[in-house]
Amino acid sequence: ARVGVVRETNPDERRVALVPKIIPALLKQGVEVVVEAGAGLGALIPDEAYTEAGATLGDPWSAEVVVKVAPPNDAEIAKLSAGQTLIGFLAPRNADNKIGALKSAGVQAFAVEAIPRISRAQVMDALSSQANVAGYKAVLLAASESTRFFPMLTTAAGTVKPATVLVLGVGVAGLQALATAKRLGGRTTGYDVRPEVADQVRSVGAQWLDLGIDAAGEGGYARELTDDEKAAQQQALENAIKGFDVVVTTALVPGRPAPRLVTAAAVEGMKPGSVIVDLAGETGGNCELTEPGKTVVRHGVTIASPLNLPATMPEHASELYSKNIAALLELMLKDGALAPDFEDQVLADSCVTRERSEQSAQKVEA
Ligand code: NAD
Repeated sequence: ARVGVVRETNPDERRVALVPKIIPALLKQGVEVVVEAGAGLGALIPDEAYTEAGATLGDPWSAEVVVKVAPPNDAEIAKLSAGQTLIGFLAPRNADNKIGALKSAGVQAFAVEAIPRISRAQVMDALSSQANVAGYKAVLLAASESTRFFPMLTTAAGTVKPATVLVLGVGVAGLQALATAKRLGGRTTGYDVRPEVADQVRSVGAQWLDLGIDAAGEGGYARELTDDEKAAQQQALENAIKGFDVVVTTALVPGRPAPRLVTAAAVEGMKPGSVIVDLAGETGGNCELTEPGKTVVRHGVTIASPLNLPATMPEHASELYSKNIAALLELMLKDGALAPDFEDQVLADSCVTRERSEQSAQKVEA
């Protein structure tokens, strides 16, 4: 099969779907790789690095399989034709997704977001690989916005107490945020509505904040809280948050708006100079005062809601994503030819242009 690597068109999207390093392994499987000129530039990868790795430069949009990072826009979809396969983030749960358009165009599309969270699929799990980048970078941003040190310092000029860091929502990004804050010397605490997370929180040297709410849902995700639970949670968090210098929020419920964990009153209760980094801005934010994509100061507290953080670390984010894409491709290939077996749960779930997976996507949304 011929695999095309496109140059992303959104100026903020600096990642690339395949880095040169992964190409020899694909060639070995009988795949041909064609790369659009400049595809790697956002990640500081020159075209020559691709040709040296065995790829050719050319038109990726005519390849049998097109691999991408960000969801395609209309102009990009117009470059595809019936029978082609597209792999990338397709935001299947966003109301304005392009899956209908891809389907009408006869394109077979695989959304990496829909890869099931099962052990066998971990190597293909792009949500996880990119969430690791986001969780790490969120803490660096928090440290950089903070008026205080993270580590405890004992100096001739006096002693500084370590920063207290609370992470709300401890999935992949939250766990990486806790680990990163710990490495910087912060005193860390984690909170989630899935009780099973407590041990993972402790395993990265953080304390577990128990508010007595259990909302474990399906497939390892959380369910949305009832109105009563939401009110109880907001009140309990309002009390808990007061004591923290830094709050990083990552809480998400698939297909739903981000849960509101931090109320305006909770922000008001924090010490001036404290920092909130809200990673849920794309679905509305976990903090009531969050302005997605912006950094604002409210009641003396800096609230940052960066969007698409993985794209701000394009080198490693692309490297990890490439590994995910290559593993997914490998699953679809047989003797170098594209032959996806839809009996395989990973392919059946992630292919969003087939009847069956559409129905299951709707089931998740309902
Ligand atoms: P996510 O991005 O969907 O959500 C982030 C976190 O927010 C989750 O831990 C969730 O429980 C939490 N959350 C939701 N509502 C909340 C609320 N009201 N209050 C507090 N916290 C709230 O999660 P994710 O990072 O995609 O991880 C989801 C699950 O999938 C985890 O159990 C993770 O370990 C699992 N996982 C499994 C695999 C695998 O086996 N292949 C790979 C990756 C992740």
